Amino acid sequence: MFPTEEACCTYLQLLRWPDGFVCPHCKHTDAWKHAKGIYRCKGCQYDASLTSGTIFERTRTPLRVWFHAIWYAVHQKHGVSALGLQRILGFKSYETAWAWLHKLRTAMVRPGRDRLHGTVEVDETLVGGPKPGKRGRGAAGKVLVLVAVEDREGTNQKGIGRIRLKVIADASGETLEKAITEMVEPGSTVRTDGWTGYNGLSKKGYRHVVVQHQEEEPGHDPTPLVHRIASLLKRWLLGIHHGRVEPSHLHYYLDEFTFRFNRRRALSRGKLFYELVQQALAVDPAPLKSLKAV
Ligand SMILES: [Zn+2]
Repeated sequence: MFPTEEACCTYLQLLRWPDGFVCPHCKHTDAWKHAKGIYRCKGCQYDASLTSGTIFERTRTPLRVWFHAIWYAVHQKHGVSALGLQRILGFKSYETAWAWLHKLRTAMVRPGRDRLHGTVEVDETLVGGPKPGKRGRGAAGKVLVLVAVEDREGTNQKGIGRIRLKVIADASGETLEKAITEMVEPGSTVRTDGWTGYNGLSKKGYRHVVVQHQEEEPGHDPTPLVHRIASLLKRWLLGIHHGRVEPSHLHYYLDEFTFRFNRRRALSRGKLFYELVQQALAVDPAPLKSLKAV
């Protein structure tokens, strides 16, 4: 579909200005098209760039290479590693491939995306690090991740719906409530185990259902959906990234996992490509420096 830079520009243009060019300065709708995605407004001579304020901003790399990377990222069923991307695109440095992949991951979270709703199961899980650790106690090298899963059992879409994952600093009530408010629509039913950190949820406008752990029933799991997602996540991190994930970068990987999981039934890779390019236009540019700083 994209034999030339021009074809890539046209594609971006359709996504960015679906109803035609609109000058960001004077709202004029007529422009001269210049090289490299610059549009000069015929009203005020302002040069609007097709890629400004997007992850493609100030890129010296041809859009065709970007599109190739995005296609590669959505085409791999289970995700891509920086090494894989480096090989496919022939990048000299691993660092470049790594930075690209992280830029793409920032685009995998749709700005202003919907919160989960209906019945949502929530629990924390520890990711990474060599030693097992327990809630409430600091576990070396581990990152606490809050997992929220829509339970569609009982509706006509059977089983697990969408998920949200978020790195959290601790399992205190304040932290959990703040994270859940970001992830789940108020008015929803939130199902948790008996951890006291969840006690304030009713006051935040949720219907809170507590499933107590049954000591006398071996193997009883108050939050089985979360544990299914947590084990898929851990296996994915091990399989694709060989478990070598910096704790400070984990949230990028969570975004990629969420993007893939929530679209696991999408039949068309073309549609995923379209969505990822669209989201790449909607997110802020993420220079390598800001990525490394996290
Ligand atoms: Zn103008």
